[in-house]
Amino acid sequence: MSVKESYSDIFEKLERHHKWFNESLPLIASENIPSPAVREVLVSDFGNRYAEGWPGERVYAGCTYIDEVEVICMRLAQKLYNAEFADVRPPSGVLANLAIYSAFARPHDIMMAPSIPAGGHISHGKREHAGTAGLVHGLDVEFYSFDATQMNIDVDKTKQKVRQMVQDGRTPKMAMFGGSLFLFPHPVKELADFLKGHDIHINYDAAHVAGLIAGGVFQDPLREGVDTMTMSTHKTLFGPQGGLILGFERHMEDIKKSVFPGTTSSHHIHHMAAKAVAFAEMLEFGVSYAQQVVANAKALAESLSDMGFKVLGEDNGFTKSHQVAVNVLDYSDGGNVEADLEKANIIVNRQLIPGDIKAGRNYFHPGGIRLGVSEITRLGMKESAMKEVANYIKQVIIDKKNADTIKDSVRLFRQDYQNVQYCFDGKLGAYEYIKLR
Ligand SMILES: *Cc1c(COP(=O)(O)O)cnc(C)c1O
Repeated sequence: MSVKESYSDIFEKLERHHKWFNESLPLIASENIPSPAVREVLVSDFGNRYAEGWPGERVYAGCTYIDEVEVICMRLAQKLYNAEFADVRPPSGVLANLAIYSAFARPHDIMMAPSIPAGGHISHGKREHAGTAGLVHGLDVEFYSFDATQMNIDVDKTKQKVRQMVQDGRTPKMAMFGGSLFLFPHPVKELADFLKGHDIHINYDAAHVAGLIAGGVFQDPLREGVDTMTMSTHKTLFGPQGGLILGFERHMEDIKKSVFPGTTSSHHIHHMAAKAVAFAEMLEFGVSYAQQVVANAKALAESLSDMGFKVLGEDNGFTKSHQVAVNVLDYSDGGNVEADLEKANIIVNRQLIPGDIKAGRNYFHPGGIRLGVSEITRLGMKESAMKEVANYIKQVIIDKKNADTIKDSVRLFRQDYQNVQYCFDGKLGAYEYIKLR
């Protein structure tokens, strides 16, 4: 292939990707679709500039308007989360977590976190799993006790475990809440005083549930006793891809240093400005969006359960977040189911679930799949549409119907949902490809 052919090929693939997603059911729980306004910011010249440091104290000239937008961005983030302090610079959720580790713990300190089958994220992980906490910052990670029936951290057993660690001279330095398989609010209120009694820094990783917290429908960690809160800005929040740290003035200087120069040089100024737009959208539309997301997740879980699927978290009503987790071992495994669904244009991800590691299953062929409804909610779907979504999933996994037939139905179904809702300006189609050449 000549260089010119490779060059053209890139654009051809991009256009095909856009068309594909425009005809699909995007159900990856960590994804969302940004508004046309967010996309406009992303192609602006801000993306070509450096603005190291803090507004008004930059390392470079040329930052007049960048500084003004960044101040707006910080104010909007503080307002959205009722926070004393916001650092809007981390380019991703992992880097936001790394900045917190760097500010509040030294290598060899111990951190409490959820294990991965219990919902934890690889950025909270151990060194032997190449987790950021262990591999990059040298933390020793200990897991919370987890109750697989409740699908939540076990408060009493966790307290016992931490008391024992204190007795053994291994007092944790940090406690991480939040996760990637995240159905129910974590017991922050129930554990915060206990953890603080041992001088443990508490961080809440809201990467997945940031938009739900902003919309007031999940939990309110900053009022429940956490010291800091980290997040991604593109999962239940409205994008762009990015990170955010929130906290109290008492920790401001430590966090600022840890973000710059500690863990970033350029903080991707176009992403920062696009976060500002997304925070404004969330302040205006976040409550109705978040309520619809949770209602949709519950409706999808109930429909799937009615159809015979083993939906996790049944004792607690399946879900209080944007996610639904399904044990698919009756049919196959999470890896095969993910691939079969993709053939029918239903995009989900396989998921390690409690019990997988003990049973010898691994990340490629785990016991479950995870479904997220944020993106299809943003496209305007309501509870009645969730029944249809559940039905398409059933046709693939249980009925084993022909993938092409289901694909056609999905494409027709999607024609009613072409634009991004819950935003100020929705002129451009959600997946419309913008050609600038
Ligand atoms: C997705 C996720 C992250 C990582 O976020 P990025 O923005 O992709 O770096 C961190 N923590 C949790 C719990 C996540 O689910």
